[in-house]
Amino acid sequence: MDISTLQVIRNRLAQAALAAGRDPQAITLVAVGKTFPPADLRALAQAGQKDFAENYVQEALEKQAALADLPLVWHFVGPIQRNKTSLIAAHFDWVHSVDRALVAERLSAARGENRPPLNVCLQVNISRESSKSGVLPEDLLPLARAVAALPHLRLRGLMAIPRPTPELQQQREQFAAVRNCLMHLQEDGIMLDTLSMGMSDDFEPAIAEGATMVRLGSLLFGHRRYTQREQ
Ligand SMILES: *Cc1c(COP(=O)(O)O)cnc(C)c1O
Repeated sequence: MDISTLQVIRNRLAQAALAAGRDPQAITLVAVGKTFPPADLRALAQAGQKDFAENYVQEALEKQAALADLPLVWHFVGPIQRNKTSLIAAHFDWVHSVDRALVAERLSAARGENRPPLNVCLQVNISRESSKSGVLPEDLLPLARAVAALPHLRLRGLMAIPRPTPELQQQREQFAAVRNCLMHLQEDGIMLDTLSMGMSDDFEPAIAEGATMVRLGSLLFGHRRYTQREQ
């Protein structure tokens, strides 16, 4: 990947922020590296990228080992299998895909007190797709209260993957619905500062609706050519 690709995307991100009257610095670009080799991630890191996300634990561990000399921030964004919670708690700084209390409890217990709390977002199934993970909006509040009470997690906000649509208006409505969920939790007294939403095809409307983290894969690394492997 050439450095100018990253620069072009950063410029688009900044333009989207300014158009929404927001500070571009308030938005973190997270590079989603699934299926791409460590060398691709290293090239991006050398161009100044700090935050990297992975979906599969085993694939992530291999890349982290290959990139251990770099001071990167690691995000887990994939489905969380119960038997992987210890590895996730040990090897990541953020987890965006928490959608049930049991998983949160296990992450907290595995994180323990010797490390800073694990940053956590709750994944919301905002478009109510049966095929998607995530907690339904009406079930968010009890989950958020439970997660906020766990000692070794720090609940930061919400993550969502809305139903893909080419319609800008529908993209914005779905992102606005996620932001509303966040605001309801805040009104309930839960401290949150993160909206993880927006991917390669829709990060600009996500920023218009308040995203503080956008997760970009194909735009940074190119098309994912081979199938995702199983863990
Ligand atoms: C793959 C993935 C992304 C990046 O998707 P692109 O469309 O390639 O930008 C973002 N978030 C999650 C959870 C993903 O699995």
